Amino acid sequence: MYQPRFFKAQELVPPSVYKKMGDKSLSLIDDRVLMTLDQLRLKMGLCTINNWCFGGNFEQSGLRTDECKVFSPTSQHAFGRAMDCKFRDHTAEQVRQFVINNKEMFPYITFIESDVTWFHFDVRNGERITLWSPKTGESKIV
Ligand SMILES: [Zn+2]
Repeated sequence: MYQPRFFKAQELVPPSVYKKMGDKSLSLIDDRVLMTLDQLRLKMGLCTINNWCFGGNFEQSGLRTDECKVFSPTSQHAFGRAMDCKFRDHTAEQVRQFVINNKEMFPYITFIESDVTWFHFDVRNGERITLWSPKTGESKIV
């Protein structure tokens, strides 16, 4: 089992899941996502996914449950294959450019979103790296 170096289970799942499964919640997150998170943290510095365990408002930025207002059963978040990352020292656009320019450092990322203020990545079965804009609906391989 891959144990993330920089993230606790609470940061990756909502409170209801953590309450039920504790640290075993990590078994719900794709290990490629966990390895990618550690790599992103090493290269780009401090990174927030969920912060409910530190008194913050983010609960559904990692594994997503139907308690979420924007829940979709076909979202990669519902399968533990997606994360929405907020970096302290970099904008989402800076992180997107870094990942696109250094693909070999992030071998598991297949999909990222543009036009959003967070860095969404996922590891879906697809051609890499697909850059998709939720604003325009357009996607391209980068
Ligand atoms: Zn997302």
